[in-house]
Amino acid sequence: MPPLPSDVSTRETTPDVIKEPPMEIDGRCMTIDQFIAYVEALEFPPPAPDRIFLHHTWKPTREDWRGYSSILAMKAYYEKQLWVDEEGHTHEGWNAGPHIFAADDGIWLFSDLRYDGVGAKGHNTGSRHLEMVGDYDNTLPSGATWANTVAALGILHIRLGLDIQHLWFHRDVSYKSCPGWAVQKSWVIPQVAAWIDEYRRTHPASLRARLTEHLASQGLLVPTNPDAALAQAGANRGLVGAISDELRVDIDGEPHVAQFFAEALVVPEDRWNEVRSLREIEQGDQPPIVGPHPPKPSKPGPEPLEPPTDEEPADPDEPASSGGTRSSITRHKAESGRPGYVSVEE
Ligand SMILES: [Zn+2]
Repeated sequence: MPPLPSDVSTRETTPDVIKEPPMEIDGRCMTIDQFIAYVEALEFPPPAPDRIFLHHTWKPTREDWRGYSSILAMKAYYEKQLWVDEEGHTHEGWNAGPHIFAADDGIWLFSDLRYDGVGAKGHNTGSRHLEMVGDYDNTLPSGATWANTVAALGILHIRLGLDIQHLWFHRDVSYKSCPGWAVQKSWVIPQVAAWIDEYRRTHPASLRARLTEHLASQGLLVPTNPDAALAQAGANRGLVGAISDELRVDIDGEPHVAQFFAEALVVPEDRWNEVRSLREIEQGDQPPIVGPHPPKPSKPGPEPLEPPTDEEPADPDEPASSGGTRSSITRHKAESGRPGYVSVEE
């Protein structure tokens, strides 16, 4: 349950109360996969949040939950709350609420995950708040509500680089039972940790992320202003990152700015002629074929089934075996899209 701070009540509005504008909420309901994709793409402005709190709604219960109607009811409830600011002025209506409601029908987005919300009095700065729909004082969460909760906690901890062992319960900072007396960290945390392990096993970090992380861990990457011309050009060219500050250089009497960037080259350990840059790999470019061209086979090969269209017709005076073999090499390469030599044995 979201907090009702001790200096807050829901009594009738009095004339000296400052009415806050309506709360902005997202209101979308997502499947686990949609929520994962959403969080993966979310850019959190600094400073990034450093704690995630788990709550239960207590009311509405799972049985009472009516999807979007319940979301709007929560919004209306928060907009009626009174609170007192640092100067002693009373306001009606919170500016934000919890970030997520995990219910049986999906993961509901409430307050913007990129920014602080309201979930635990005195602990709203730098924290995010997930509400499990239901009352878990006497029973454990289960079914879709629990699956949605585990996935949402898992992907948020991954995305924010937070340790699930440090999950917060509302009752850590409140007299409330929230997220319900039946719910214990020793029951929650291993399940989310297992979800995180499975996610990491099936969603390895992208090659770019792994290479960039390696370079950063060596202290070799220099932070850049993403709006700077050279930094943008480096990103557009698929370079891994800047490894020097900008440097003024005179070229033919004209002032220029130079900067060094890292580019990664990658090669399979057993095919040393298949070197590609990181950008080429990301674009699906095939490695260049280097080295000698495949030798012509000494034995005649079969005729191609149909003449190739992307090559000039074979010289009619040339022996059929030669033309046919060359054509079949070309066709194999074009069809398979695979690099390297193509066998002409059939
Ligand atoms: Zn709570």
